[in-house]
Amino acid sequence: LYQDIKTIQQFAGIVTDITKETAGIEAQRKLQYQKDSFLSIASHELKTPVTSIKAYAQLLERMLKKEGDVQKADMMTRLTGQVNRLTTLLEDLLDVSKISNDRLDFKRDYHSFNEIVTDNIGDINYLESGHVIETNLAFMGNIFCDKMRISQVMNNLISNAIKYSPDRDRIIITTAQRNTDVVFCVQDFGIGISKDNIERVFDQFYRVSTAEAYSYQGMGLGLFISAEIIRQEGGRIWVDSEENSGSTFCFSLPLVNNIR
Ligand code: ADP
Repeated sequence: LYQDIKTIQQFAGIVTDITKETAGIEAQRKLQYQKDSFLSIASHELKTPVTSIKAYAQLLERMLKKEGDVQKADMMTRLTGQVNRLTTLLEDLLDVSKISNDRLDFKRDYHSFNEIVTDNIGDINYLESGHVIETNLAFMGNIFCDKMRISQVMNNLISNAIKYSPDRDRIIITTAQRNTDVVFCVQDFGIGISKDNIERVFDQFYRVSTAEAYSYQGMGLGLFISAEIIRQEGGRIWVDSEENSGSTFCFSLPLVNNIR
């Protein structure tokens, strides 16, 4: 009888432990759910007034330029610049909440890969930062993908290359076909990433914490979102980097069933 009681006690102990553990997991899940909901609601609610501020600011900027009021027009240009930054931050937060809810949407079609690349280079105001973008674009085929999403990834990688190489003006962008993939790479000669950090740069909210890396603004979401987009498009994303020498960020997309 004593042995039986002992066994029952041991069993009860295990059950209690499992129950405690399950309760812990449940609580964690609930917390995660609350965090995701907060992120989603907050970024949604903030986006509406910011979009309207952006529209009015752009209108005012145009009006002031037309009136020839250079000083005020210049102030409005700065204001729209900051509103644009805010919009990008909110869009990143929205994308993160969509990723958490598995609701990142893709509108796929056939697109000229080269056109997406050149549109992106044209859009980036690299002259302002003093950077010169060199290109070696060898891939001219079409890709079945969400143009806006792939453009978002390219923009993120090119903006990072510019942001993290303030003292070097060279950025090299290449495209090429490698076996059954198209590969896109952006190389910079900037601050680079140490071996300890390189594994984690694609993690959510991860930013390299050296004093130098930290002095650049950002939330550590761009690469996380980019990696998720490329994963959902069936490709791969990676980085080669050396501290103080520069980084090369690349992604590949499959061509199988993609070429027309
Ligand atoms: P953010 O730039 O907003 O911090 P990202 O997700 O785009 O976020 O990048 C995550 C981190 O990876 C950055 O904070 C930076 O430390 C590092 N990183 C990204 N791109 C580069 C680059 N081209 N050179 C050096 N470090 C980089």
